[in-house]
Amino acid sequence: MAKVSINLATGSLQKEELIVGIDLGTTNSLVAFINPDGNPQVINDTGKGLLVPSIVHFQADGSIVVGNEAKEFLTSDPENTIFSVKRLLGRSYQDIARYRDFFSYKVIDDNSESLVKIKVGEKFYTPIELSGLILKELKERAEHALKIPVNRAVITVPAYFNDSQRQATRDAGKLAGLDVLRIVNEPTAASLAYGIGLKPDEEKTIAVYDLGGGTFDVSILKIQNGIFEVLSTNGDTFLGGDDFDRAVLNYWITENNLDPENLANDQVLNQGLRLKAEEAKKALSTQNLFNDSLNRIPLAISKQKFEELIAPKVQETLDCCKKALEDAGVKAEEIQEVIMVGGSTRTPLVKERVAAFFGKAVHDQINPDQVVALGAAIQSDILAGNRSDILLLDVTPLSLGIETMGGLMDVIIPRNSKVPTKAGRQYTTSVDGQVNMKISVFQGERDLVNENRKLAEFELKGIPAMPAGLPKVDINFLLNADGILTVQAIELRSGIKQEVEVKPTYGLSDAEVEQMLIDSIQHAQADVQQRMLIEARTEGEQMLYTAERFLEKNETYLQENEIVETKNYIEGLRASLNAGDKDLIHAKIDELNEYTRPFAERVMDMAISRAMKGKQIE
Ligand code: ADP
Ligand code: MG
Repeated sequence: MAKVSINLATGSLQKEELIVGIDLGTTNSLVAFINPDGNPQVINDTGKGLLVPSIVHFQADGSIVVGNEAKEFLTSDPENTIFSVKRLLGRSYQDIARYRDFFSYKVIDDNSESLVKIKVGEKFYTPIELSGLILKELKERAEHALKIPVNRAVITVPAYFNDSQRQATRDAGKLAGLDVLRIVNEPTAASLAYGIGLKPDEEKTIAVYDLGGGTFDVSILKIQNGIFEVLSTNGDTFLGGDDFDRAVLNYWITENNLDPENLANDQVLNQGLRLKAEEAKKALSTQNLFNDSLNRIPLAISKQKFEELIAPKVQETLDCCKKALEDAGVKAEEIQEVIMVGGSTRTPLVKERVAAFFGKAVHDQINPDQVVALGAAIQSDILAGNRSDILLLDVTPLSLGIETMGGLMDVIIPRNSKVPTKAGRQYTTSVDGQVNMKISVFQGERDLVNENRKLAEFELKGIPAMPAGLPKVDINFLLNADGILTVQAIELRSGIKQEVEVKPTYGLSDAEVEQMLIDSIQHAQADVQQRMLIEARTEGEQMLYTAERFLEKNETYLQENEIVETKNYIEGLRASLNAGDKDLIHAKIDELNEYTRPFAERVMDMAISRAMKGKQIE
């Protein structure tokens, strides 16, 4: 329930609410807000530090800890300590199978293209749920530190995240009880933190270099009229500060003639050395020598030696920068600003090499592991309406369109369009004397609307009676910077008009979230099988529907034997639906598909001439 309070200065009612900015990182996450002075600030929940390691530990007693407390279990209890979950977000097993060995916990393969799950003890968790736990921790820390409820957030993602990964991030926010107002690209947020892109008439081409714990990415952005366009991205999802730590560790192993096998068996020593290596690396960002010991093993390394060890890795990042520039069609000297992001850009060699590569000083004034969260807070401030002079920025993650005949999706604003944007198309009636037209607005990438998400429905009433095909109905979509869609329908001959405002509901509905929460308590491998069967059945039913409609509509184009044979395949598919065997259903779908594909092509050719007359809405 929203809390309402009275503003003592003005006497007006005021909703005491704050939108926070969250950097949900692979290694570390953090949350920032705009402080009363109007400046972005990272939230420090007293004593717990600014950065929350993105690690979740499932304790033996069933409780769950997140952050630094969980980090301690990385080596002592690897099976129950989940790190780097961002790598799995919105991914199928196929996507990640190549680097399965990287994870010390169980990533479940159900031989399908569905999203991966993680098994902890006897329970299965989705990466969305695990990310949700991290976000929940951040939300609670913010509430604790600020002493007000925090229900709304802007969350950042890498520029290269696809729709499914963005969607998963949104859903994770929902599970944490957050209304995710916007998903923002990390390089965009970093740029905002430096105040780049905040002026409406600003035009710039910039590079954002982000070297984190385990991932590297570089983005080339073009900023124009408050719109951030990603020209290209490049990087390496397995290159980061962890590699620097490993380089130091390996150096010490060689220097001290340590037996790698002994080390592998002594997890306590191993972990101790790893932490020392990271400590040394960090120290060498500001000093020339690190000198320490562990269990009487001398651990020393000079800055010069360290730089020699990591130079090849740094060079790899520059190779990525080169490719990113090529893909963007931009020369290094055309880049006007270079922004450093990620804890690993604190290493002086990294900064030097990047500056040399682009031939200009880099922006490193803002703490590189906070800059994304700070920018996200600025974005949230803009969304809160506190910086009304700025218009923003983002692209639509899913296509928007309307339903046309046969339940087909007709896309009006394609996915990845920049907002604000406007688009429209003309339609007509399908029946003589039709006076009302139903307009159903959908969001999604599928061809059939019933596989997409319905956003709104309204009726354009009072079209003067005319023969089918004569009315001219313009349907216009206007998507404003906050993602609010206005749909307008106007019949041009009579001038009658109807308008609705639609707020796209991205992600899961509340009921779906609730269902997920219930499932998370009990889902087992069996559920996965069950769902796959249901999905196959639904697909089969849809196929039946489409095929039958096809026969009905196009009988005249087909020969008698073709119709009979198609009906046989249809019956074969229908019979398979209740056999409880998903593979059988898929086989029957494929057979029917194979057989009818040539007809569909034939009919399509013939239909083209009809389509020229104008599209019709049922
Ligand atoms: P991510 O975006 O992947 O979550 P971060 O941006 O938080 O990661 O970067 C984490 C990495 O930064 C770790 O490898 C950490 O060791 C490294 N790091 C943090 N501080 C320093 C420092 N002072 N010098 C060098 N590396 C650092
Ligand atoms: Mg990061």
